[in-house]
Amino acid sequence: MINATNVVKTFDGFRALDGLSLHIDKGSVYGLIGPNGAGKTTFIKSLMGIYKQDEGIISVDGETVYNNPVSKQRIIYISDELYFFPTYSILDMAKYYAGIYENWSWETFENLKGVFKIDVKRKIRRLSKGMQKQVAFWLGICTSPDVMVLDEPIDGLDPVMRRNTWSLVLQMVADKGTTVLISSHNLRELEDVCDHVGIMHQGKIVMEKALDDVKGNIHKLQLAFDGGMPLELRNSLDIIHEEVFGSVELLIVRGEDSEIAAKVNEYKPLVADILPLSLEEIFIYELGGMGYELESILL
Ligand code: ADP
Ligand code: MG
Repeated sequence: MINATNVVKTFDGFRALDGLSLHIDKGSVYGLIGPNGAGKTTFIKSLMGIYKQDEGIISVDGETVYNNPVSKQRIIYISDELYFFPTYSILDMAKYYAGIYENWSWETFENLKGVFKIDVKRKIRRLSKGMQKQVAFWLGICTSPDVMVLDEPIDGLDPVMRRNTWSLVLQMVADKGTTVLISSHNLRELEDVCDHVGIMHQGKIVMEKALDDVKGNIHKLQLAFDGGMPLELRNSLDIIHEEVFGSVELLIVRGEDSEIAAKVNEYKPLVADILPLSLEEIFIYELGGMGYELESILL
């Protein structure tokens, strides 16, 4: 659905996007994760045709968004800096959207009044930043988009509104098969919502993963043996990280938990705990193997 290949965007010679490639399937919720300055907004603006990249290709459904009114109809972009007409109320803005977007749904607009609970006669510019985001989101959903692009959507939202936002995103995906791209500097924020994650660092995607593949295939082991860990066992495990605390070995191992447990138990361990990893830990260990400065990417 969304494809980017070797995209480069420079600002005065600085490569804000430095050969970025990513792939987002239709109906997927894709989390674009990276620290401030990684290039998330620059990529999103290039995708939306607000910036013209210097090199590379970005397409949505095989077409570029730039100068393409059909694509623009079907994509909703909620930027990190919102713009609303100064004097418009929520209802005025809704009427304006209804005139532009052919799939606008007044029914959805009515239904969501109960979720957002903001008087539609209020002027949008007078609302708090967080409320303005909610309004942008509310109006965006009513356009029944094929693609929704959200740049740091939960910044400035309280926990209740965050939960509301996520549940609406997931409901929209379930109902309409909407493809969603969400950027965030916080992996933990997105791990329950996304099915795919791209980790961005210095203008590139350094890792792209389906979360189903990631979870379950990597485990933390705490082991202790009488006389230390047998070399044979060590050699039979796919170890990606190792630490020793006194007589206890902490290992990060790739593989199915039942297979790992079977191997370990052959050697009669004194202690053998197999624990799942959080998504954050998984990325930290995997990226570590690739030689990246992890804390700067994920924390
Ligand atoms: P993110 O959204 O991941 O925080 P940005 O895409 O906003 O990152 O910025 C990536 C890098 O590009 C930063 O170093 C930023 O300073 C630079 N940059 C972004 N926009 C511009 C611009 N319009 N002019 C010059 N530099 C920019
Ligand atoms: Mg940004």
